[in-house]
Amino acid sequence: MDITEFRAGVQSWLDENDLSPGPDHSLDAQVAQLARVRRALYDAGWMRYGWPAEIGGLGGPAALRAVLGEEVATRDLAEPGLYSMVEVLAPTMISYARGDLAARMVPRLLNGDEQWCQGFSEPGSGSDLASLSTKAVPDGDNWRVTGQKVWTSLAQYSSRCVLLTRTGPGHAGITAFFVDMDSPGITVRPLRTMHGVDEFAEVYFDDVVVPADRMLGEPGDGWQLAMDLLPYERSTCFWHRIAYLFTRLDRVLEQTTIGDDAELGAAYLDLHTVRCRSRETQRRLASGQALGPDTSVDKVLLATAEQHLFDTARDLLPGAIELAPGEWRTEYLFSRAATIYGGTAEIQRNIIARRLLGLGKE
Ligand SMILES: Cc1cc2nc3c(=O)[nH]c(=O)nc-3n(C[C@H](O)[C@H](O)[C@H](O)COP(=O)(O)OP(=O)(O)OC[C@H]3O[C@@H](n4cnc5c(N)ncnc54)[C@H](O)[C@@H]3O)c2cc1C
Repeated sequence: MDITEFRAGVQSWLDENDLSPGPDHSLDAQVAQLARVRRALYDAGWMRYGWPAEIGGLGGPAALRAVLGEEVATRDLAEPGLYSMVEVLAPTMISYARGDLAARMVPRLLNGDEQWCQGFSEPGSGSDLASLSTKAVPDGDNWRVTGQKVWTSLAQYSSRCVLLTRTGPGHAGITAFFVDMDSPGITVRPLRTMHGVDEFAEVYFDDVVVPADRMLGEPGDGWQLAMDLLPYERSTCFWHRIAYLFTRLDRVLEQTTIGDDAELGAAYLDLHTVRCRSRETQRRLASGQALGPDTSVDKVLLATAEQHLFDTARDLLPGAIELAPGEWRTEYLFSRAATIYGGTAEIQRNIIARRLLGLGKE
């Protein structure tokens, strides 16, 4: 199916099948809505396009997933950050898990039966991820994992975790596992964000037994796995987020008056720029080119556009953020995290300076 045909099919299906969320904006409701949307789109087939047949997909280019995400975002059917997690976790499983494990598990993520989380960051190991210390030691047919993760999005809702552990020194001593979150020895303590939502958590591992066949790749493949996430995190996920940001620009437009054009125009330009860049990134990915440090440019552009947009909303909708608790405030506060998650703005600029511009070490 080509992209135009796919988009038309999705649009007319969504016109006939109302998946709009209810009035409850709590995180519980958002997670339930996400599962509902995934389930309906999976059953109708749309969620299976762009994924390989080995995991129950219907094939076609990854761009089909970007189009689906764009339609979901444009209609505000699911919170965009939550919806996008599939884009990172499913490709990782397809590339690194044993074939039978991926075939069994990935459909459960796509069809909304399960939520998964990404256990990478630790206290003291965020930007410097390679310093992580959660330890995994072999024990017969199993591994035993002990340590702590932090900022793990949706851990309290998750059935599984893609977990990075230390099995030896240096980058080559990082090993990934696919861990059942109900394993004895795992404790999840939700953390509250500044917009008042328990969106992420601390996750403690106390001598947790993980079967050896849950290793993703081989011992020492964990760093490469983390690097391989980036093309997905910064292509289809970004396309979806940009579509969401355009809906918010439209809302600001609806609520402002003539005379605010310069500020709105500047916010639009930032969004348009990152959309053009993202389109090009996806085109390069589709043509088989490897994506690397160049995606740091996409990350900087996206975070800049997102924060600029919500700054514009703050300036043009007086009081909407400061005085009225509601979606504008929540989204404004969340936009501050855009320069932190997925690699901070400073780290992206270091990468651009060092690896793209050859300006030497920071
Ligand atoms: C909303 C949200 C969701 C998240 N979800 C997840 C998740 O699901 N799973 C997960 O594993 N992690 C998650 N994270 C964590 C995220 O990946 C880290 O916050 C991020 O990598 C930064 O690490 P840190 O918080 O330890 O900050 P630090 O690395 O301690 O950085 C602190 C400050 O120092 C700066 N800094 C650090 N090193 C340098 C340097 N060399 N040069 C210049 N400046 C530097 C940083 O830019 C930053 O401003 C999430 C974070 C957020 C905000």
